[in-house]
Amino acid sequence: MRKHYDVVIVGGGIQGLSLAYYLARDSSQRVVVFEKGYLGCGASGRNGEMIRSAFGSRQWIGLWNKSLQLWENLAAELGFNVMFTRHGYMILATKPEEFDALKQNQKTQREHGLTTTLLDAEEVMRLIPAMNPAVIAGGLLQAQGGFARHDAAIWGYARAARRLSVDIFPATEVMDIVIKSGRVQSVKTSGGEVETRTVVNVAGAHDQRISKMAGIELPTEVHRIEVMVTEPIKPFLTKAVSAPGLLCYMHQSARGEFIGGAEKDDFVPSTSMKNSLGTTCAIAFKYVRIFPQLAGVRMMRQWTGLVSQTPDHAPIMGPVPEIEGFILSVAWGGYGFMGGPGGGKALSEYIITGEVPPEIRPFNAERFETGKLVIEPAIIRKEH
Ligand SMILES: Cc1cc2nc3c(=O)[nH]c(=O)nc-3n(C[C@H](O)[C@H](O)[C@H](O)COP(=O)(O)OP(=O)(O)OC[C@H]3O[C@@H](n4cnc5c(N)ncnc54)[C@H](O)[C@@H]3O)c2cc1C
Repeated sequence: MRKHYDVVIVGGGIQGLSLAYYLARDSSQRVVVFEKGYLGCGASGRNGEMIRSAFGSRQWIGLWNKSLQLWENLAAELGFNVMFTRHGYMILATKPEEFDALKQNQKTQREHGLTTTLLDAEEVMRLIPAMNPAVIAGGLLQAQGGFARHDAAIWGYARAARRLSVDIFPATEVMDIVIKSGRVQSVKTSGGEVETRTVVNVAGAHDQRISKMAGIELPTEVHRIEVMVTEPIKPFLTKAVSAPGLLCYMHQSARGEFIGGAEKDDFVPSTSMKNSLGTTCAIAFKYVRIFPQLAGVRMMRQWTGLVSQTPDHAPIMGPVPEIEGFILSVAWGGYGFMGGPGGGKALSEYIITGEVPPEIRPFNAERFETGKLVIEPAIIRKEH
């Protein structure tokens, strides 16, 4: 560990590692990543791996489309196969009013240069014949979307960052941040103290603890999300599918396993990492409701991950006015894996130039005081 770093990144998830990579690639800053567990032990190694930029608000489309463009060449860029499978991402409407909302979202997508296709119920059936016709009111397909392997993306960014001389310390917990005269001075870790003038909080579900070290309160809450994987079965689903009306999403891997999750309608807040029978049943029920032939298929694995979420469900990115040198990239909710390359790249541009890039400007920390919230209609949104 060096005595001094230009940038200290707290958290070895996809956001922290992609930021480290782009900073090292595009500048001569000395960068260190501290991860209290192993790389990807947070939500980044536990997610459903689905990727799209077809959202319904200008702000989300701007940031996530930057990310989707980076996903396209990520394997070649990092020299590591992140297994980005671009078979398309379909948002399923299960009721006519949901289909109307998809039409509205498509208008916004078109205005911002995205190519997406609206599908009526028959077209959805032709595209995915295994789907239960009773749940289909229509769909919206983003052919450029898909899914990638979450571990591979983590390892790819970490290896590429190390090649560019980023120091990465797993099993090293950030314990405190020293602030003097309103500016970051140093960071105390379980492995020693380092001097720095820039600290980035990318600590996922632990974002509040890191921010409190700098005296900053965040308007975030921790949420748990569960995933289930089935035994491998003959491939019949090439698209990633999300059904916001049913609060669930899924895709089938190259090995034939079904991977996905669902949120329970009667949500009980908790930070437990144990899976619950209720959510397991909800996922199984929704899998079978959408794809009847999954009835009787055995569950192979399940796990839980924690994410941080803001009241408007959008991330908080950029500097905070109170402390010079303290930067946030937190509260990515259920969309930070797909937003990993774009989030890291955009934040690196801010750190290198001092100018907040347009893609992350709307996601500033002040919006909860100014009231300029970012309202995104095309996400799985459960009001608690
Ligand atoms: C079940 C599930 C399904 C999901 N599905 C999708 C999906 O299909 N598509 C999608 O885009 N997103 C999905 N997400 C969301 C996505 O995984 C997250 O938004 C994203 O991984 C957040 O990345 P991150 O780097 O900000 O946080 P994390 O990956 O959580 O990383 C934060 C890291 O900080 C470390 N840390 C915390 N405190 C300290 C400390 N004091 N010192 C050092 N290190 C510390 C943690 O150990 C952790 O590794 C899903 C999430 C879950 C849980």
